Amino acid sequence: MFCILNTMNDCIFCKITKKEVPSEKVYEDENSYAFLDIKPNNPGHTLLIPKIHVRNIFDIPHNVLCSLMNPLQKISHAVKETMSASGINIIMNNEPSAGQIVFHAHIHIIPRFDGDDTKHKTYSERETKEIAKKISAALLL
Ligand code: AMP
Ligand code: ZN
Repeated sequence: MFCILNTMNDCIFCKITKKEVPSEKVYEDENSYAFLDIKPNNPGHTLLIPKIHVRNIFDIPHNVLCSLMNPLQKISHAVKETMSASGINIIMNNEPSAGQIVFHAHIHIIPRFDGDDTKHKTYSERETKEIAKKISAALLL
């Protein structure tokens, strides 16, 4: 049966912030956490999430949304530089009709290249670790 994961207890992204499920972390602060998407549209595709469990743009408290803006800009620069991308898409899917599959608010940061396609790519485990390490390092510069 199709089931929409909705609560903190069964939320995969809450489990990621609590380190109960592994992720390739690129950034963390008091309010937010960012990690590589497992099915990237391009290598370096990163998800930025609030640490508190909220569903999407419609229930996220204003102060929590604002707290994501600084990391969003920093991570966008770091992803663009690390991946040598020529552009970045920032996307937030809200509700199933808009393509939301995971019901913990998240912002996609997707590196883009001239003439690329955004079909889902796969990484080797080593590649993911290397990319996450490089993006984290670029955030410290
Ligand atoms: P959305 O369609 O905006 O809800 O996208 C959810 C995204 O989360 C998709 O791009 C998935 O590939 C990604 N995703 C789901 N589970 C995980 C996970 N455990 N680690 C990293 N990314 C994930
Ligand atoms: Zn959650």
